[in-house]
Amino acid sequence: MVSEKIYFDYNATTPIDPQVLAEMANVARDNFGNPSSSHCFGRPAAEIVKRSRQQVATLLRAQAEEICFTAGGTESDNLALKGVVLPSLAQGRKVHVIISAVEHPAVAESCRYLESLGVDITRLPVAEDGTLTADQVGAAFRDETVLVSLMLANNETGVVFPLAEIAALTKSRDILLHTDAVQALGKVEIDVKVLGVDLLSLSGHKVYAPKGVGALWVRSGVELEPLIHGGGQERGLRCGTENLIGMAGFGVACEILTGGMSNEGRRVAALRDCLEAGLAAALDQQLVFHGHRQLRVPNTISLSVPYIDGESLLAHLDLEGIAVSAGSACSSGEHQGSPVLRAMGISSDLAQGSIRISLGRWSSQAEVDSFIEKFTVIVRRLWAISPLYPKK
Ligand code: PLP
Repeated sequence: MVSEKIYFDYNATTPIDPQVLAEMANVARDNFGNPSSSHCFGRPAAEIVKRSRQQVATLLRAQAEEICFTAGGTESDNLALKGVVLPSLAQGRKVHVIISAVEHPAVAESCRYLESLGVDITRLPVAEDGTLTADQVGAAFRDETVLVSLMLANNETGVVFPLAEIAALTKSRDILLHTDAVQALGKVEIDVKVLGVDLLSLSGHKVYAPKGVGALWVRSGVELEPLIHGGGQERGLRCGTENLIGMAGFGVACEILTGGMSNEGRRVAALRDCLEAGLAAALDQQLVFHGHRQLRVPNTISLSVPYIDGESLLAHLDLEGIAVSAGSACSSGEHQGSPVLRAMGISSDLAQGSIRISLGRWSSQAEVDSFIEKFTVIVRRLWAISPLYPKK
């Protein structure tokens, strides 16, 4: 029987913070007006949009008018990539875009689409520890490069790319730099001026706000082609009547993060380190941990259990009420292992046995202790029946 459930999948999505929920309930109950209406129902709604925009901007140390609300990280990434590239294509120019081999599908698939329209895409490889250098980016520049898009933190390994260093290079060549910061927000400090990027994607549901709301920060002066045309909302960049409740929730979620992040980061990093060390010791150092040990966000663990399939490990953990994520992915019925780990040169056997554990605001030491205990029992049981595991 399942007793206490353990949620260690915060990179997939986060529970809504009670303060966020309370604000959303207030807005839902008291403010049904359309922010575009100039009457006494519309004006308070417009104030909520304005306040939420400021709350997101404050967290990034940006200007409020640089925040464009969207329906989430995927839309923000699409808007950044297509919004930059489509106008150049329309002018009949040759266009080149640089991304990494480990980008989220929101970026990778947008690029595949742009490729079908004739855009040249360079996909930079990463090292075995998931890192990438600014020199690699500089070496890939061409005369026709218009955009570099690299994630700030990887969703599977948590590895952080050196965006500030890369920004110095793109700036000197007048190339725009976009970063998918969906998995970095709330885990590392983001100051857009220090980072030096031009476009930055965010998602609400990774930071204790609801799903279906996000934002694209657009440095003032950067011109983008909208993807959704209509009534002129979001300064014409993303039309459609505003998701007032979602925006209000995202705003409060960002306000909670402003100032409170370093403590939360330290607490989660301590739990993560304890969990990693505990698992490694309990399983006689047979686990393989992926990703650079230091250059990563504080909450994410990517590991492989040799001789075990990640999906079956996940199923056994699920029976115990433990939620983690399998790094592996099935494509067209073929079990290939996580594309991110494969791009890091991890063997397909190990990549297939990979799982991602991600902690967050309500993770506790008691959960870490219980996880280590249950995980160890399951892995030893699976090893005992695995035909591949070397028996003494
Ligand atoms: N980018 C990264 C790195 C992500 O991890 C995710 C979600 O998993 C997204 C983009 C997509 O965000 P959303 O779920 O808000 O569309």
